[in-house]
Amino acid sequence: MNVFILNAGSSSLKYQLMNPVTKNVLAVGICERIGIDGVLKHEFGDGQELKIDVSMPTHKEAIELVLRTLTDGEGKVIDSIDDIEAIGHRAVHGGEEFASSVMVTEKVIETMKKLIPLAPLHNPANIMGMEICQELMPGKPNVAVFDTAFHQTMPDYAYMYALPYDQYTKHGIRKYGFHGTSHFFVSNEARGMLDKKHNTRIIVCHLGNGSSVSAVLNGKCIDTSMGLTPVQGLMMGTRAGDVGAGAISFMMSQEGMTINETLDLMNKKSGILGISGKSSDLREVLDGMQEGDDRCRLAVDMVAYNIKKYVGSYVAALDGVDALCFTGGIGENSALIREIVCAGLDGMGLNIDPTKNNKRSNKARDIATNSSAARIFVIPTNEEYVIASDTYKIVSGLEK
Ligand code: AMP
Repeated sequence: MNVFILNAGSSSLKYQLMNPVTKNVLAVGICERIGIDGVLKHEFGDGQELKIDVSMPTHKEAIELVLRTLTDGEGKVIDSIDDIEAIGHRAVHGGEEFASSVMVTEKVIETMKKLIPLAPLHNPANIMGMEICQELMPGKPNVAVFDTAFHQTMPDYAYMYALPYDQYTKHGIRKYGFHGTSHFFVSNEARGMLDKKHNTRIIVCHLGNGSSVSAVLNGKCIDTSMGLTPVQGLMMGTRAGDVGAGAISFMMSQEGMTINETLDLMNKKSGILGISGKSSDLREVLDGMQEGDDRCRLAVDMVAYNIKKYVGSYVAALDGVDALCFTGGIGENSALIREIVCAGLDGMGLNIDPTKNNKRSNKARDIATNSSAARIFVIPTNEEYVIASDTYKIVSGLEK
């Protein structure tokens, strides 16, 4: 079975064609600058690459181009669309309505539309992707895999904000959490790597451009750092993370900023970019630090300190820890961030081995010392596999 995986954003869409049973990836690609001009980057075969500059006025034209590229010409990997059995969609916000992946029906799309106020940038693009696939590939099953679903097991005392209760009942204001497919994949892999099979207490640090931490007890999420929206929690590439409400309202009044300007500043101009003044990309900021730039040094210190504080608080939330996992571009690649986060956590049973930590590999691995009470894992995430595998299970009736 080949599953077409689609991650539709507002001006870009990412795709993969994968067989979830063999885990064979036939093609990976991205359409960028949709509605502006348009460029398709398509990888296939043994690392061959194709770049097509072509006008993509709408998402429909972009998806049509992707399907043509998969089935015809230089980048062809399948004979026809008939070789795609199902489509798996990354969907951002499932609110409290979706605690697991679902077959896309009219009712599901209606519910996702009702959730648009919670994810005004993402849900409309996700819905558009679903409707276009239904139109271009009629009769093929579509499955929605929600970023928020894995976090739906959080207990009420973890997901509620201490606002008047009717803010929750009237508007659904609470923590939802994001990156759920990654937290699920990594915590599940970690469970498999542990000797212990019961009462597993796992902390996952998903550290990329967007970053979040989750606490996972026996495979179920009990807390996570992102909130109603992805701006809460850790300091990220361009997002501020946790900032006191008093600081935000004071900044708004001092600068005469509107709510939208404030959200734009907190989502797009803050975080690593805002502090370093140089880049949102940690690699460039690490280079800046090496060259003696003090604001780059500060950004790196803040990133690591923030992660460490969440790790400590989740050890408390889980009544201990069996495995701390690092994933995402930063978590998988930055030995320095892992080292600073773990420094001094021996008392919590987390003892990092510097040699193992500094060894580069793209495989899942344990970087704790042999005598460490808890394991420290680096686990490459694979959100696309979770989407393909959920799609396969739902479509073949293995999961309802
Ligand atoms: P992602 O969103 O998961 O693709 O992660 C992107 C982030 O990972 C960026 O901030 C990159 O700078 C960071 N990153 C990737 N490779 C490295 C590396 N070798 N060292 C430090 N940061 C890295």
